[in-house]
Amino acid sequence: MSERPDRKRAGTLSDLSLAVHGGNLLDSTKALRTPLVMANSYALPDDPSEISWSATAPGLYTRNTGVNQQALQEKLAALDGGEDAVALASGVAALHAVFFTHVRVGDHVVVSDVTYEATWRLWTELLPGRYGIEATFVDVGDLDAVRAAMRPNTRLVCIEAIANPTTKVADVAAIAAITHEAGAILMVDSTFTPPPLYRPLRDGADLVVHSLTKYINGHGDAMGGAVIGSRELIEPIKADAMVDVGGIISPFNAWQIHRGSVTLPLRLRQHTASAQAVAERLAADPRVAYVFYPGLPSHPDHELARRQFGDRGFGGMLAFAVDGDPDVQNRFVANLRLITSGFSLGHDDSLIVHTGTEGGRVATYPDPFRRLGHLRLSVGLEETSDLLADLDAALDATF
Ligand SMILES: *Cc1c(COP(=O)(O)O)cnc(C)c1O
Repeated sequence: MSERPDRKRAGTLSDLSLAVHGGNLLDSTKALRTPLVMANSYALPDDPSEISWSATAPGLYTRNTGVNQQALQEKLAALDGGEDAVALASGVAALHAVFFTHVRVGDHVVVSDVTYEATWRLWTELLPGRYGIEATFVDVGDLDAVRAAMRPNTRLVCIEAIANPTTKVADVAAIAAITHEAGAILMVDSTFTPPPLYRPLRDGADLVVHSLTKYINGHGDAMGGAVIGSRELIEPIKADAMVDVGGIISPFNAWQIHRGSVTLPLRLRQHTASAQAVAERLAADPRVAYVFYPGLPSHPDHELARRQFGDRGFGGMLAFAVDGDPDVQNRFVANLRLITSGFSLGHDDSLIVHTGTEGGRVATYPDPFRRLGHLRLSVGLEETSDLLADLDAALDATF
């Protein structure tokens, strides 16, 4: 596989062009789209004795990197402005890969106290219990608290640019400065804010994690995860978490996600514009108890979000609750006709999920999430007016 010479100027392309042309590997067939290569293994040279079985290179064995994985990685690195990327089986595999590779027994990590459920479970149950790695959970909105949580053995700080599901915004540049002062590295889960909406590496993050399952694929039909950063930090993840542990992405998923990502900047414009309209409509309705969307001036982190994301908007995710107990929330969801009740987010179809007030993770959320539960809404690509009409009709049917 070789790259067309005109693809090599990825650094000079604007967002829409980069999403179309980034990481398009061409082979001898001259097909204009990178072919799907499902092969597990590749022809070795006449003298293979020089080749390391643990090499993190394409052209050997698919656990060491396949053609479609390579193309996707090049594209993701280009989109996020990183030197290198590794694509893995899921977003959670990517998170685990960072922790497994870059944190050792005896290290300490600082983790946002509102963080994706699997990250929270990894740092409350799995990693401390099994490997003795201590985690301190902090309110990342309190920079003094972040500073105070750092210890001599702090190796990693782990935050989300916009937190799932509370939509709390982290000040990445400020936290990067505190992290680096303490000699640690900063990992930002930017799943809610994919490029070009936000590029945390530019604000000093060392590693960016995406669930590719969400916006970057965008069509709800493939799982994947990625870590992007410097070659120095990504290469050991490839060696440890990919080649040795084997959490690789399937070639088909890599191919599918590569294709989905072509329209990422265009889709984000629509997700963002619609989410802003939906948030404003819900916030103005007296039957709605609360709405959290960073694009609303009432959001506690609105000013920070404006500074950090600029005029690119605030993404497609919001959290809200209608007025009433969990049964009322369920009735409201059941009354929706266009918006689908389902896990995941960042798909073309709008997805809503009701999380009640019970269960381990919810107990750690701030009010009003803890008191009322919440509805997490991923605003999809349907016509904005149709979404508003669906929400209005469901409110009318519920109250
Ligand atoms: C979904 C999600 C993940 C995990 O991704 P999977 O692809 O489901 O494993 C990680 N972080 C955030 C913020 C997510 O929303």
